[in-house]
Amino acid sequence: MKETYLGVDVSPLTYEGIIDELRKRMTRGEQSTIIAVNPEKVMTAQDNATLKRLINESTFQIADGIGIILASKLKGGNITERVTGVDMMARLLAFAKDEQHPIYMYGAKKEVLELAKSNIERDYPGIVIAGSTDGYEQDEERLIRDIQESGAKILFVALGSPKQELWIERNMNRLPNVQVFQGVGGSFDVFSGTVKRAPKMFRKTGTEWLYRLMTDPSRIKRQMNLPRFLIRILTSK
Ligand code: UDP
Repeated sequence: MKETYLGVDVSPLTYEGIIDELRKRMTRGEQSTIIAVNPEKVMTAQDNATLKRLINESTFQIADGIGIILASKLKGGNITERVTGVDMMARLLAFAKDEQHPIYMYGAKKEVLELAKSNIERDYPGIVIAGSTDGYEQDEERLIRDIQESGAKILFVALGSPKQELWIERNMNRLPNVQVFQGVGGSFDVFSGTVKRAPKMFRKTGTEWLYRLMTDPSRIKRQMNLPRFLIRILTSK
């Protein structure tokens, strides 16, 4: 059962639960979308009806951020584990490799995309990368044709949020061969090795936000969304 925070839905499923559901949906020929939800997005969605609708109409809204876990705890919910966009993508890559579902990677800068692709081919030997296009390609018609003709079943879109979600919503009907769509933000940068993830200690304790703040203090404005979100949760019914 989904949980709702300030009008935004979050799925309680974690990685394996989502993969199991995806497998069933793929057998039935249904398309699925995966979107990451964090306090920043929930706060933006408060005065952005389009973003709110995009999140709530997705198949899986993953709990990408310690703020969502805290909100669930405060409200007696069942979401206890973070499901990050980049780790979800890693699980999907393993799934794609194991069950031979071709993937397509769309987004990020050309050099980043090339590095990410070769690292993925090294780390998931046997995976089929049916195609890829960097995120600065202007010819949408050509791109759609390329994805559709590649035979990819899983599409990762890395354009940042909400651009990537809007792109997926606009184009999924034109991509009937694709069954799984994930908006992955800066994940190609992580797979490329260009952007380092926070050290394990921060990731394990759910304090990646603290690490990011220390390494990039200009994020403070974005990060004020976390306390604002928690205050709204505490004062909401
Ligand atoms: N990007 C892109 N095309 C654009 C704008 C952004 O491919 O027109 C890529 C950018 O190169 C980066 C990713 O989208 O790889 C954005 O990552 P960010 O971490 O900003 O996304 P977030 O996860 O914060 O939404």
